[in-house]
Amino acid sequence: DINSSSEMDSEADQQLHIFFFPFIAYGHMIPTIDIAKLFAARGVKTTVILTPLNASAFSKSIERERSFGLDIHIQILQFPAVEAGLPEGFESVDGMTSPDMVPNLFEAIKMLQEPFEQLIEECKPDFIFADVLLPFATEAASKYNVPRFVFHGTSFFSRCVEESLICHKPYADITSDREAFVVPGLPDKIEMTRLQLHDKFKAEDASDTEASEQVREAEQKCYGILVNSFYELEPGYAVHYKNVMGKRAWSIGPVSLRNRDDADKAQRGKKTSVDEHFVLNWLGSKEPQSVLYICFGSMSRFSKAQLLEIAAGLEDSGTSFIWVVRAIKKEAEESFLPTGFEDRMEGKGLIIRDWAPQVLILDHPAVGGFATHCGWNSILEGVSAGVPMITWPIFAEQFHNENFVTQVLKIGIPVGVEKWNSWIEAEEVGPRKDKIANVVSLLMGDGEEAENMRTRAKELSEKARKAVKEGGSSYENLTALIQELKMVK
Ligand code: UDP
Repeated sequence: DINSSSEMDSEADQQLHIFFFPFIAYGHMIPTIDIAKLFAARGVKTTVILTPLNASAFSKSIERERSFGLDIHIQILQFPAVEAGLPEGFESVDGMTSPDMVPNLFEAIKMLQEPFEQLIEECKPDFIFADVLLPFATEAASKYNVPRFVFHGTSFFSRCVEESLICHKPYADITSDREAFVVPGLPDKIEMTRLQLHDKFKAEDASDTEASEQVREAEQKCYGILVNSFYELEPGYAVHYKNVMGKRAWSIGPVSLRNRDDADKAQRGKKTSVDEHFVLNWLGSKEPQSVLYICFGSMSRFSKAQLLEIAAGLEDSGTSFIWVVRAIKKEAEESFLPTGFEDRMEGKGLIIRDWAPQVLILDHPAVGGFATHCGWNSILEGVSAGVPMITWPIFAEQFHNENFVTQVLKIGIPVGVEKWNSWIEAEEVGPRKDKIANVVSLLMGDGEEAENMRTRAKELSEKARKAVKEGGSSYENLTALIQELKMVK
């Protein structure tokens, strides 16, 4: 039938095709793939661009979506690790063993421009959603006249704080690194110290580093910005950000809520180092809200000395816990837990080496607290699960996220990390066992402060879940965005 086939053709012409290109770190790939699934669930054809090893890590979860009829695909780009002086098989930032590898990483990233342009030519996507850390995407997109969106993977709040620090330099007149100063111009009174700042702010005449300049430039030149957040979480900052940056931004999160059943939650990237049924059974044997989940993200690693402090603090607190442990790479071969610790903790504490099914754990009713390094995905996953937090920031924008959780949302207790770390591995010992035991007991105990935090965390979780349902702010933002993209196409 000629009519219906031409109707089908025009429907296919109408269908949007969007490229999603994440930065090669789990904290970027995981939410990007959730976002691609969200668009695909609304009838958009989505293609996620991944390097070979990352493609195999995510293929199972993408195949699963395809089996439910979603038009979602993977396109593989080879990663020029060896050409850029990185070890063979290097395809993700958690494989970095030294800060010296950072320039090579960005060298390799730059080399992706040409094959990426070939892909654009071949597949002719209507839009490109590329990570803010892939600066070449702006040029590649404009070369082929394809509108480019930016995904920066963090909150409105932290982008507002950064922008204020860059523009107003409130740290400049402070005499001591430990003296608190107020970050000016924000909807709330936010205090920081110079010790918590990124290195780029610490030099006398602090000027922007190249990377943060590229982030701002990508934001300035793009069509719009996608944010993994939801309006009700940070309304003042959503408005402030748009005013200050003069850009349009759509918050469509928490995107991890796209993962609805246990299989989805357990398969978000890297293969878990523990059987998920075992973890669920273990949690099933615990009282509601009695377990503290401790995890420091996809890259961070601690020294043996710090791990010993954490182990002793946990033991002294008497709290049940699940702890995802990773030691710094050069120490990883040694035994890094106190002698007999795992035997003594049997039934009380579960240790997972390397990679845990985080969302599956956080969403379990037995989990009552989350000790986190304050990566933005982790914070949002904790908010979605409705658990209060112990904040233990290490690097990147994690101190901003800590301030957001403790000073704005008021659902977290800082463990007391004082100093921003320039690298994913923290060699110095920060919080000691007494302080750790103390905050764990405070957060997991039945004191008034903890009760209030639990109540606020539960309320936020309800708001998060509402935001992604039909009629909710994130859901409707996505609807409006897709409609706009169809018009633009
Ligand atoms: N994650 C996980 N299991 C782990 C460690 C991390 O599933 O053992 C996931 C976590 O759920 C989150 C992401 O990896 O989605 C980490 O992102 P985040 O922004 O929290 O921190 P980053 O790793 O980027 O520092």
